[in-house]
Amino acid sequence: MKKIITRFAPSPTGYIHIGNVRSAIYPYLAARQSGGTFILRIEDTDQARYVEGATELIMDTLKWLGLEWDEGPEVGGPHAPYFQTERKELYLEWAKKLIADGRAYADPTDSDTIQSYRDADNAKKIPYLYRNHRPENIPEWQPGIPIRFKADPKPRKWHDEVMGDLSAGPEVQDDIVLIKKDGLPTYNFAHIVDDFLMNVNMVARGVEYLSSTPNYLALYEAFGIEQPLLVSLPHILAPQGNKKLGKRDGAKSVTEYRDDGVLPEAMLNYLACLGWNDGTEQEIYTKEELIEKFSLDRIQNSGARYDEVKLLWMNGQWIRKLVDEHGIDKFYERTLAFWPDSAKNYDDDYKKRVFAIIYDRLKTLSDLREMTGYFFEDPKFDIEQLLNNKFVKRFSEQELSSLLGTTISKLEGLNNWNEESLKVALNQLLEATGKKPAELFSLIRISVSFAPFSPALDYTLDVLGKETTMSRLNKVKNALLLDQQ
Ligand code: GLU
Repeated sequence: MKKIITRFAPSPTGYIHIGNVRSAIYPYLAARQSGGTFILRIEDTDQARYVEGATELIMDTLKWLGLEWDEGPEVGGPHAPYFQTERKELYLEWAKKLIADGRAYADPTDSDTIQSYRDADNAKKIPYLYRNHRPENIPEWQPGIPIRFKADPKPRKWHDEVMGDLSAGPEVQDDIVLIKKDGLPTYNFAHIVDDFLMNVNMVARGVEYLSSTPNYLALYEAFGIEQPLLVSLPHILAPQGNKKLGKRDGAKSVTEYRDDGVLPEAMLNYLACLGWNDGTEQEIYTKEELIEKFSLDRIQNSGARYDEVKLLWMNGQWIRKLVDEHGIDKFYERTLAFWPDSAKNYDDDYKKRVFAIIYDRLKTLSDLREMTGYFFEDPKFDIEQLLNNKFVKRFSEQELSSLLGTTISKLEGLNNWNEESLKVALNQLLEATGKKPAELFSLIRISVSFAPFSPALDYTLDVLGKETTMSRLNKVKNALLLDQQ
């Protein structure tokens, strides 16, 4: 298998949201599968869109997802530097080579004049192409003058690994700007030079670059560079409508999901499978499995719809998988940031016991905050909530206090308070009272937790302990008795 040398080349213009992180995942998988190289290159030549701190955020995101890079910021590499602004001189040298070959020119035309060309073409209803307005007198290049490519418009054909065989006519090829007035290169130019110098043989990026590809082909040709494999990734679509998922549709940053208790394993799995599958029904993939099974030819060529419900489902699956495979002790560390404040007075062993009985109900780790409060402090006492429960409702308050009375004396008599003995006692209570589990257990469960649901009752009471269980049951019973007076 050919070693894939590829890159993720984000522009530091903000956080990485879930719509664009796939452009990192697929190249990473292809590089790892082939024993190749995954490069991180920061394309920071658009100074107007530069956002302070964005590079760090991008690197944090990649590290969190487990997409370590072989070359790039922090790790260095044979093609350093990996920030394009630090490579400025290089692009100029390459642009000058094209000038020397008659394939580029210094263009002093000011922006008002360029706009007037555009307006005139629009008025004549002809497509605006700068090459129809090439200046007659070309000056010697000097700093402050942009450099443009001299297009060689002709029919072009190429293959895209996702989109298939493509072609374009001369009408889309133009004299694109290579070096801007500020001396920095455009994306269109810089990435061609860098990909070549970094030996990149696969370029995977958003489908929005497809329309510029004929101009890139012309540049490869002008330099005599072999074209890398081109992989255009379809958009991730917003949950509604037919548009690309954007920050405005709530496309959160990847790190926000991390802070909400989504696991990197689940995020990687979900995003990798959004628009790619291996042809089987498998849904849960480890990173190693993705590396093994990934193939470019199974990337879908139409947009995949983002579905947060599915992501959260997958996260729940991953929580269970990791706990079941590695045990609570090992997983517990990952939960530390997600407990309710009231848990801080409790030791790790107690929290591990709570976690052990609740983890299989979590969708995200932050669910711990909403779902475990009653293990750490008395829940908000709300007798109406109890009385409105659809099973509890079936009984009068008198019956309820008598049921609680029977329960209390049964549990009070338990010498060994553990899951086993509780299970037996609860079953005996069902027999003695003749009530259905949903009826009697809802009454007990709500009385001790005032939560919409809880883990199995015997587990819950076991973890809560005898003292807390009895005091909460008594409190409810007394309230019901008071009501009756
Ligand atoms: N800097 C471009 C972007 O952030 C990267 C496109 C590419 O991967 O070549 O969209």
